[in-house]
Amino acid sequence: MASYDYDLFVIGGGSGGVRAGRVAASLGKKVGIAEEYRYGGTCVIRGCVPKKLYVYASQFSETFEDAKGFGWEVGESRFNWKALVAAKEKEITRLEGLYRKGLDNAGAAIFNTRAELVGPNSVRLLNEDRVVTAERIVIAVGGHPSPHPALPGNEFCISSNEAFDLAELPKSILIAGGGYIAVEFANIFHGLGVETTLIYRGKEILSRFDHDLRHGLHKEMEAKGIKILCEDVLQSITVDGEGRRVAETKNHGVLTVDQVMLALGRVPNTGALGLEKAGVTVDEQGAIVVDAFSRTSAPGIYALGDVTNRVQLTPVAIHEAMCFIETEYRNNPTSPDHDLIATAVFSQPEIGTVGLTEEDAARKFEDLEIYRAEFRPMKATLSGRSEKMIMKLIVNAVDRKVLGAHILGHDAGEMAQLLGVSLKGGVTKDVFDRTMAVHPTAAEELVTMYSPTYRIKNGERQ
Ligand code: NDP
Repeated sequence: MASYDYDLFVIGGGSGGVRAGRVAASLGKKVGIAEEYRYGGTCVIRGCVPKKLYVYASQFSETFEDAKGFGWEVGESRFNWKALVAAKEKEITRLEGLYRKGLDNAGAAIFNTRAELVGPNSVRLLNEDRVVTAERIVIAVGGHPSPHPALPGNEFCISSNEAFDLAELPKSILIAGGGYIAVEFANIFHGLGVETTLIYRGKEILSRFDHDLRHGLHKEMEAKGIKILCEDVLQSITVDGEGRRVAETKNHGVLTVDQVMLALGRVPNTGALGLEKAGVTVDEQGAIVVDAFSRTSAPGIYALGDVTNRVQLTPVAIHEAMCFIETEYRNNPTSPDHDLIATAVFSQPEIGTVGLTEEDAARKFEDLEIYRAEFRPMKATLSGRSEKMIMKLIVNAVDRKVLGAHILGHDAGEMAQLLGVSLKGGVTKDVFDRTMAVHPTAAEELVTMYSPTYRIKNGERQ
């Protein structure tokens, strides 16, 4: 039998890679892991975690305004961008330390270097200029924001990577895209006092979400003062004499702003990774092709997380890592389950969702009941804020199964997590009806919508 330096070598120290490496090491496997930037990966260093911290920061402007309705007199408030960046940095450094500690405690060898494949079982550690061998290799190198090379002047734009650490908070920003990142950052910058414009190519933002939530969020964002330009794209970016960005759009003329941020999807980090030398196949988007067990086309090489472009979400990468461990090290073949993934968009108001949208359900099922509530949340009564919440259940009329649950409003992400448990368990609408409300909450609407708002039969609304 061939002998290797490691049982497992992991390339990439993000959510998926660290989980695979740490658990394999804790099972007694000899593990090496290499990361070229910072342990924690996109999620911890320049994604979910700092994003959520910035969402909290951006919500204070409305909180101060709302306080008046509850009897508070709030003095003049000022926001200090540099203080936020420094506080964020401290927190992600702490988390990065925990990731390293977890690996170290489990007995994994940690390398701070870029690593590339040089053959089927061989990895070159670039900083040390040496090759190590491993029985199994996991590629979990994630992705990066699409730089949109077709856009003239794209080099004058920032992405979410830079947005967290800008030297100065811009006075104005133009954000391109209508997905998670564009929408979340538009709300963050607006809440921090930046004049914010979103430009999106489609008819309505957040193309993969339920139409009610898309319209509802669009309306709320505009009511706050965020400009949203739909059915439009950037044509070029130049820099004027004062260093401001001059963005030429197709349909809305020229916009001059302090920063332009591109949030046009993320692409897998598969460049110069030596994949061809090891016989690892990629698809036309550059994502590593894997089978149902995260196996690549090369024996002994696996890939998980964003680099495979299955579902670009942290919990999915972690789940894929755990399935790899079950299959390879616990003799329990387990393939990742990508069905019914609950997700949140940390917009303001928030979106929380799980299961089929009304549109998708109408394509797949003949007879649907749609339960829908739109109401002013209790907090908005005294604050005077006009914001509305939307809750929606998509139910298969034939067997009463809840196919989708969609929420727009505060804490929607928290609710989506619990709805995810119910839908995963195959919950029917009758169970919702039998469930006692928690009063007074917004979530109680979910269990008090007794009659369908409308039905959809053979794709037609009744
Ligand atoms: P998304 O896929 O969510 O959105 C990309 C956006 O860019 C879409 O609106 C898309 O339009 C648009 N777009 C793509 N290409 C072009 C183009 N050539 N010209 C104009 N517009 C274009 O990607 P994000 O970058 O926002 O986020 C990447 C991933 O990260 C997400 O898919 C998500 O999985 C994950 N993420 C999750 C978060 C969360 O869980 N809260 C937060 C942030 C990111 P169209 O819709 O028309 O295709």
